[in-house]
Amino acid sequence: MTESGQKFKIFKFLKIVICSFLITCLLLFTIASIRTLSLDLNVGLQLARWEKTNNISLVIDHHQREELLAHFKEAIRIPTVSFSEKESNTTALLEFDRLLREVNKRLRLLLIRHELVANYSHLFWVQGSHPDLVPYLLLAHIDVVPASEADGWEAPPFSAQEIDGFIYGRGTIDDKSPVMGILQALEYLLKKGYAPRRGFYIGLGHDEEVSGFKGALNIVRIMKQRSVRLSFVLDEGLAVLDGVISGLQGPAALIGISEKGSATVKLSVSMAPGHSSMPPRETSIGSWLQQSKD
Ligand SMILES: [Zn+2]
Repeated sequence: MTESGQKFKIFKFLKIVICSFLITCLLLFTIASIRTLSLDLNVGLQLARWEKTNNISLVIDHHQREELLAHFKEAIRIPTVSFSEKESNTTALLEFDRLLREVNKRLRLLLIRHELVANYSHLFWVQGSHPDLVPYLLLAHIDVVPASEADGWEAPPFSAQEIDGFIYGRGTIDDKSPVMGILQALEYLLKKGYAPRRGFYIGLGHDEEVSGFKGALNIVRIMKQRSVRLSFVLDEGLAVLDGVISGLQGPAALIGISEKGSATVKLSVSMAPGHSSMPPRETSIGSWLQQSKD
């Protein structure tokens, strides 16, 4: 082949690559534009076609909003403190139990199975219409770490005081908002006729802050005994925070897909001792580092 023929072939190949790239870009742009223009932000909670209703309105009137807030504040005011693995404020945990039953009394009428685990933890089961679908588990915890006003709180930690539209108190983020949010959202949805296709569990532990050896462990034990398999577990997440990510304007919802854990590892190396003036090719330190790396 002549040189000009080769050049022509390369040119033709480049032309095809560039054209394909431009066509793909144009296609993606068209799809993105159609999706953006057809997105309706005010549709409320859309349910799938198999549900009894097509749409559940998320409009909450003033009275309902006040009621939800009052219940949440009540939850914050109960000092469900875990002091250690052996010591919890059990009086407060009992009071919290009473609050959950009072606030979510309709749940019991709506075919939700509820059981108390290890005296103060809770396990709920919401049956789905399709028992063949693997259920999931929503988790939250009702205990909090200790808090003292002397730590510099702007409002007493168990007062649930509202300052400039923010509720102050131990447990507002970690983790009583999910506790109250999950149950109240469920009650709201069920009242509106929501019938889940996939069944799900809700587990509320009472000693998560001190490792969950009573609550979480026994919830797991019960589920294992019943051979429950789960499609996924959704644990407490992070809050929607403003100004935490530099360069990002407005609130950011941080989604955690895993959580840090801790592990204790004991490593030991046995090697022939020697003099440091003539070290072996590999020392015990090198071998130990290799083990740590592995
Ligand atoms: Zn937590």
